[in-house]
Amino acid sequence: MAKLHFYYGVMASSKSALLCINAYNLRRTDNKFEVIKPSIDNRDSTSKIVSRIGLSTDARALPNLDNYKPKRGTQFILIDEVQFFSPSDIDKLVQIADHSKITIICYGLVVDSNGNMFPASKRLFEANAEKHEIETVCEMPGCVNSANNHLRFDAKGNVIRGGSQVEVGASQYKSVCRQHFNSIYYGNPNFNLLAYIRDTKRRQK
Ligand SMILES: [Zn+2]
Repeated sequence: MAKLHFYYGVMASSKSALLCINAYNLRRTDNKFEVIKPSIDNRDSTSKIVSRIGLSTDARALPNLDNYKPKRGTQFILIDEVQFFSPSDIDKLVQIADHSKITIICYGLVVDSNGNMFPASKRLFEANAEKHEIETVCEMPGCVNSANNHLRFDAKGNVIRGGSQVEVGASQYKSVCRQHFNSIYYGNPNFNLLAYIRDTKRRQK
């Protein structure tokens, strides 16, 4: 049985950068690997994964894994933004891992901006994928807690509650700790990000 890994972390926790570094090392050591991403994510070009810090690697964008078959000799499959696939796509990956020698390494988010788990990420937990948390600090000014949630804001800095799980790049997201998520999402209907940042800066002067 081959390994199925899940590297998870919030947005901007350098998941895509980590994937690019892994791809670079696999290429350097002559391993045969494939890089896949859901075609729903077109933050950049559809045939590339581009990390926020500028690392990039070629990828195949697929709408789902229904007809996916790794090429002969593939040793590793790297998957970016795995949360945008479906639970049945994850089942397909489990099948590949359990019936071949291919190591599968998934990168993605666990929780959306309403505090709910993405179905594909949930399926990875259910399937007992080997989990690796990529930790990063809460993005609210002055907070040093580790981030595990997201808040989504409109252009005016107001919290967007509800809405689609698959909105990519259209709104402004902040990766926040549990405390900040609960106090803002549930506890403060009038919270405004721009005013909050302005006030924090004023206090720091
Ligand atoms: Zn915080």
